[in-house]
Amino acid sequence: MHIITRTGVTATQRNIAVKWIKRCLREITRQHYELPADYSTARTDITVTVKLAGHRSSACERGVTIDLTAFNKNITTLMEYPAFKNDPVIGSVDITSPELVLAGTIAHEVSHFVQYRYGPDTRWLCNRYRKPHGEGFQDIYRILRSRVVNPHLGSD
Ligand SMILES: [Zn+2]
Repeated sequence: MHIITRTGVTATQRNIAVKWIKRCLREITRQHYELPADYSTARTDITVTVKLAGHRSSACERGVTIDLTAFNKNITTLMEYPAFKNDPVIGSVDITSPELVLAGTIAHEVSHFVQYRYGPDTRWLCNRYRKPHGEGFQDIYRILRSRVVNPHLGSD
């Protein structure tokens, strides 16, 4: 994992972000998801940029950029993309813990990384990974929300 830490991000904040990125990668590289990468390969493949300006997180086939502004401001609403914001699993949600909002943002961006990096070589994604927030993306994000993030929502 190549980690780039931008100005103003503390080691503690970076470590929290990296922890959730690892949890997402560990889940989505489980063998039955049939990705062309195991956990150690995915960890090598991904570049992680952690920043504290601009308010926008993003991702591409090379990695994810996570903005910690919302986390820093203790924002407790995870705002999702309009097309699925009302979905009970992958939609927007009010959470009492800013860390879990960050976890949701990270799951979203890691899903983009997975769709672009591995989608072309994954049987269940190769025909539907292209659209940024389309079916393939939503399938990956549904796995990460339901397995990595949502189990924590009732207990915070
Ligand atoms: Zn997105």
